[in-house]
Amino acid sequence: MMEEAFDVVVVGSCMTDLVSQTPRLPKAGETIHGHKFFIGFGGKGANQCIQAARLGVKTTMICKVGKDFFGDAYIQNFKDNNVSTDFVWQTSDAATGAASITVNDAGENAIVIVAGANMLLGGDELQKALPAIRKAKVLVCQLEINPQTSLQALQMARDNKVKTVFNPAPAIPDLDYNFYKVSDVFCCNESEAELLTGFSVNNVEGAHRASQELLSRGCGAVILTLGPQGCVVLKAQEKTSTHVPSTAVAAVDTTGAGDSFIGALAFYLAVHPTMTLEEMAGRANQVASVSVQTSGTQTSFPFRQDLPAKLF
Ligand code: ADP
Repeated sequence: MMEEAFDVVVVGSCMTDLVSQTPRLPKAGETIHGHKFFIGFGGKGANQCIQAARLGVKTTMICKVGKDFFGDAYIQNFKDNNVSTDFVWQTSDAATGAASITVNDAGENAIVIVAGANMLLGGDELQKALPAIRKAKVLVCQLEINPQTSLQALQMARDNKVKTVFNPAPAIPDLDYNFYKVSDVFCCNESEAELLTGFSVNNVEGAHRASQELLSRGCGAVILTLGPQGCVVLKAQEKTSTHVPSTAVAAVDTTGAGDSFIGALAFYLAVHPTMTLEEMAGRANQVASVSVQTSGTQTSFPFRQDLPAKLF
């Protein structure tokens, strides 16, 4: 039987967000009443994969969830979004990753994340998924799973000449330099760039400097996202980065904007491999700017039909 080929393969996390809205954050030992509760699908890996799928490429997710209610629901969520679940494993050894989020009326939050099953994704599963990795156009990784699993996946993609996008989020200090060496595109936000370089990154100038430092560590290109200011792009052999501005919009909720951007970037890398990285970044800015105009994470990610035809 012919193995199916996927355009975008994401190796990463699935998290169930359990969100309570309350008048204030509870103190230790206290029970309070909240006014609203909802469950959302999150996890950087899954978010990025779902954004790429919504733009219209064949995607698969390589991940692990628990053999529990949330794991079953997550698998259904992938199916609903046209993401293949051939490489979604379920384990009885840990619960599906979860984020318990309390948000008070002032917008402050307290969050507990339990990565759970995400941390049990390892080399065995990557080996089983190797046929899909080998045939992919683009492989995307982050750091919400065991970093060694991410590094191994990026290396496997590299060995098979598959384009790699690495999003070092959440950032860890003293990131192994091998991550840079296996990244065709190293894409991070301001706070991640600050933690990785030690430079302050609060404007385009700071982003230029930080992107030069990141590039010098061995990646093929750097994209540093800057919220409403868009991003800067720096490619190997270039001395200075290019600022690619975003569209001015009325932002309602920027949660997941970075994941929308990376999912879109993976889409363009897969579909338009000869397009300039600056052009891809400009289009990814536009996709992400749509996501910030409605609330929620995956719920705010646009579908192909919601976007202007010129973006495709
Ligand atoms: P993260 O979500 O990782 O913190 P950013 O805040 O840098 O990432 O946002 C990622 C991308 O989302 C930006 O590069 C930009 O394209 C878009 N974006 C984020 N915030 C806004 C905003 N307020 N207005 C327009 N675009 C935005």
